Amino acid sequence: MRVHGQKRIKFYLNSSHITTASMPLSTLKYTNGEVTVVWKPDTCIHSKICWTELREVFDPFKKPWINMDGGTTERIIEQVRKCPSGALSYFMNNDGDDAK
Ligand code: SF4
Repeated sequence: MRVHGQKRIKFYLNSSHITTASMPLSTLKYTNGEVTVVWKPDTCIHSKICWTELREVFDPFKKPWINMDGGTTERIIEQVRKCPSGALSYFMNNDGDDAK
């Protein structure tokens, strides 16, 4: 099963209880040439804040789920900074790979 690109494995503890655990996946990066958004699937708590506030960029029903052409660099950065879990971060391409 994949959720937001995250692979989950079901564990059957007994006949009435099912739980899942996440396998670590690599960090995913998306860029518009000016800014790069970094997404860590294992850190995402699925708060929905990104895709309810900026659906033109963050849409979990599309692939890729982050469309860097959907908003300005400033608006994307503003939204990334609202991510409560730290799953989203960014770096300016001119600054190198130093995610904020
Ligand atoms: S705002 Fe952050 S924690 Fe919430 S769904 Fe988006 S990436 Fe995940």
